[in-house]
Amino acid sequence: MRVIWNPKHADHAAPGEWEGGAVIPCYEAPERLGLIRAALDAAGGFTFEEPARPSEEVLAGAHDPAYVTYLREASAEARRARDPAAKQLWPTVFPFGPNPRATGARALRGRYCFDTYTPILPGTFAAALGGANAAAQAADLVAAGTERAVYVLTRPPGHHAEPDRCGGYCYFNNAAVAAERLSKRGPVAVLDLDVHHGNGTQHIFYARADVLTVSVHGDPAALYPFFSGFADETGTGTGLGANLNLPLPHGTGVKEYRPALATALDAVRRFKPAFLVFAFGADAHEADPIGGFKLPTKFYTEMGAAVRELGLPTVVVQEGGYNPATLGPCVVEVLKGLHAD
Ligand SMILES: [Zn+2]
Repeated sequence: MRVIWNPKHADHAAPGEWEGGAVIPCYEAPERLGLIRAALDAAGGFTFEEPARPSEEVLAGAHDPAYVTYLREASAEARRARDPAAKQLWPTVFPFGPNPRATGARALRGRYCFDTYTPILPGTFAAALGGANAAAQAADLVAAGTERAVYVLTRPPGHHAEPDRCGGYCYFNNAAVAAERLSKRGPVAVLDLDVHHGNGTQHIFYARADVLTVSVHGDPAALYPFFSGFADETGTGTGLGANLNLPLPHGTGVKEYRPALATALDAVRRFKPAFLVFAFGADAHEADPIGGFKLPTKFYTEMGAAVRELGLPTVVVQEGGYNPATLGPCVVEVLKGLHAD
């Protein structure tokens, strides 16, 4: 199986994240990618390649140009800063009031970000752009019929990134970049099986009838991103009916997850897409430190096989997964199920 990996990923390494008034070590660390790659190497049957020269053009249709410019310039600002504290741009105030206005640098940090987990660092833009280009290249291979399934090995992840805001460790929405590119060739379904709701992907395509977004995730009443991912969010305008959320309670195990996955896959089949983008996170695993679900490693083979049965040309995009011991094995199992001959 061909793997497009992001060689710039380690340019972004957050020193920590703000959680409840304390700075804790960042779960979304560069080691994640190396662990996945080592597990795939050990499993065998995977070839690794880098995307061609990174281009901002791949972001069109997924992200607001003003946001792209902001992220580029904010990363450059952090790079130029002499004071170590100024090399990390953290938002502290977010837009509020009936007519919020953002004119200065501090206001823009809150304008283009929605949480305290997602700082902008000197290498953030390059790392995020590398991931978006890896996703675009995988989409091109699948669209051309060259490959039945291609895996995008990247971090920082993407599915929380909104059209014009970073958040949830995500800066550019890699799955949305792939889906937008594939949508030029036919209808696309995005299936998000990260334990967190893919809010960014939902919102990027919320008014689109040609891209179905389906997400199985922890109930946002109790799990990040809290503000979206509810079952009654079904799309808007011409996109009404092209978004399906299947929230599940904390502690969900195979018994509850399996029927939700079947419902998600049925929705994809009924939509009759030409392509699938599979946003995969390993954080629904029982040993994940932040997910709260109870899926065992062996279930990931079944998950991959179930997605394979859709019979669709597929781009798999790496999202979350934060237990260093189980992240690699989960990816190996899901890709094994997906790619079995
Ligand atoms: Zn997640």
